[in-house]
Amino acid sequence: MAQISPLTPSNHDRDNAEMTYVYPVVSRRAAGVSVGVNLNPNSACNWACVYCQVPNLTRGAAPDIDLVQLENELRAMLTRIVHDDFMQTRVPAGVRRLNDIALSGNGEPTSARVFPQVIELIGRVLADFDLAGRIKLVLITNGSLIDRPRVRAGLGKMAGLNGEVWFKFDSATASGMRTINQTRITPDRQFERLRLAASLCPTWLQTCVFALDGTPPSEIEQTAYLAAVARIRQQRIPVQGVLLYGLARPSMQPQARRLAPLPAEWLNDFAEKIRAAGLPVKVTL
Ligand code: SF4
Repeated sequence: MAQISPLTPSNHDRDNAEMTYVYPVVSRRAAGVSVGVNLNPNSACNWACVYCQVPNLTRGAAPDIDLVQLENELRAMLTRIVHDDFMQTRVPAGVRRLNDIALSGNGEPTSARVFPQVIELIGRVLADFDLAGRIKLVLITNGSLIDRPRVRAGLGKMAGLNGEVWFKFDSATASGMRTINQTRITPDRQFERLRLAASLCPTWLQTCVFALDGTPPSEIEQTAYLAAVARIRQQRIPVQGVLLYGLARPSMQPQARRLAPLPAEWLNDFAEKIRAAGLPVKVTL
């Protein structure tokens, strides 16, 4: 086995564990270790967000998943973390705690045809390691496939496993979604998917803000976003809050040179506006 370097918040290479589907991450947000499950080793997504950190991203769906290999990899990784010296040898002091399993990878995880079977599998493994209900199961998704029956079934199972959905919500305008996420999905359709996700499993909005060609999100963009937050509150959609991110890691997309991080004050000001519109916010710079 090749030498593996200690993990840091900036070192969460999906190849780190030399597995196909499973990789460890030190999460700056959670101040702990997250076990990532990558259902898109083919780097395929149905969106093409300009800030996406996936190299060689292509349009498409997850490939066929080898569930036996995935389960073996997950068991092997949890054995290293829970029973072996992984925390001492690979993880900096102060963050040596297992926080979650995160379905997050090089594409849209819900595009995997066996998505509900993957959730079942994770539930089984968590139970065997006596971790069920003690760590979170996070789904990081663009939400575009939530209305498919198999995805709804998976979210229902997640709810029983201390699950959380992080639903991508970068813009509430059609032009913003076209520019940032490079999708033609309408904001209204996406809003209905958000409503569905939140009805099935605890759901957070996940929003990335940055300067594009030197300009932060426009007044029109901000107003539309805040109106969507207000609508969530008015309609009593049980969204937990907003995870507001800056541009922490470089985009691997052709638009990378057009993107730049915003100052912390900008994010904090926008977070205050979101709170005033009615939702809690966690800011990650
Ligand atoms: S939805 Fe996620 S994986 Fe897909 S392009 Fe956007 S950031 Fe990348």
